Amino acid sequence: MVGGGAVATRRVPPLVEAGALVHVVAPEVNPSLAATGAVIHRRRFAEGDLSAAWLVLACTADRAVNAAVSTSAARLGIWCVRADAATEGTARVPAVARSGDLTVAVNAGDDPQLAAAIRDAVRLGLDTATLPVRPHRRRGPGRVALVGGGPGDAGLITVRGRRLVAEADVVVVDNLAPRTLLATLDDQVEVIEAGKSAGRETLTQDEINALLIDRASAGLLVVRLKGGDPFVFGRGGEEALACLRAGLPVEVVPGVTSAIAGPAYAGIPLTHRGVAADFAVVSAHLDPSRPGTTIDWQALASGPATIVLLMAVGKMADVTAELIKRGRAGTTPVAVVQDATMPTQTVLVSTLEAVAADARDAGVRAPAVVVIGEVVRLRASLQP
Ligand code: SAH
Repeated sequence: MVGGGAVATRRVPPLVEAGALVHVVAPEVNPSLAATGAVIHRRRFAEGDLSAAWLVLACTADRAVNAAVSTSAARLGIWCVRADAATEGTARVPAVARSGDLTVAVNAGDDPQLAAAIRDAVRLGLDTATLPVRPHRRRGPGRVALVGGGPGDAGLITVRGRRLVAEADVVVVDNLAPRTLLATLDDQVEVIEAGKSAGRETLTQDEINALLIDRASAGLLVVRLKGGDPFVFGRGGEEALACLRAGLPVEVVPGVTSAIAGPAYAGIPLTHRGVAADFAVVSAHLDPSRPGTTIDWQALASGPATIVLLMAVGKMADVTAELIKRGRAGTTPVAVVQDATMPTQTVLVSTLEAVAADARDAGVRAPAVVVIGEVVRLRASLQP
């Protein structure tokens, strides 16, 4: 490396990391270069410096010095990279992206900025598994990943989740998971519908657990793709426990839950300074007036500023009546967000006393998130 400034500082570390013995020749050397393990020579470039080199990088700010380096290198038959004039060198440094064991080097002729831009795009594509390449997975022991797919819009899955979906041998998918991702899967990926919706079950929970264990025990990567977050009313905990009991490694990838994303997509923050400092997320699929409910409806009626109900469509009348009976004002604003984050999303705004009838008249159906509290009024200014 001839030069000890900014360019050298950027280029030396990857060379050292790649296993090269690097000598830096320059009258002034950036102090960080010494720490890389490179051998520092604080002086001007001299002809003899290249005698034992395989490759030289001319990275000084002085064109004449760089030219002298490349002339000398050409005479000795040594590859030379010119930082100031790529076309005058005999070698080039590509823009490099690394992802796992994979290295992609991009050369864009005389346009290093284009090379860097393409490198960045490739790296993003690899990290998010959006490049149409199915990473070849080395066969290892099987495992299960419980992946939160977010509320429905395929853009709301995490980068980690998206990548696991791309690597999966088997995808066991729920109704409310981002199903458009299934179209991206290779033909050889086994897709199993575990869809549960009110009143209809394709597979029982025990059958799902057994399936996860069976496929992972056969050495496959099994992705359990769930709607929202796997640990929010998703029975993710049960599935994880079943797999762990069977001695299988389990990874849990959190997801964007509909309890928060649904209201957000309707322009409703669950907390807001001066309006609400707490919220509760409640499963409303059981009638609150029936004995045996484990939910403290009294505490909910008088407690959190914002209440979010999931699985509430069928029990709207019972739940709202219960909250009013226990002291929540009937005039409290309520929003019902159906098909949140999806192209079919609709939002109904009403009050605690009127919402059951309004939702019935509007034909609201599952999946829907119900938000109760003063924060619903913010929608007037915040709705997208
Ligand atoms: N684990 C999921 C919740 C599963 S329970 C999550 O974190 O989001 C299923 C309930 O979630 C549905 O009855 C509905 O209340 C809610 N839900 C899930 N996706 C939804 C969506 N796209 N729009 C509105 N509600 C949704």
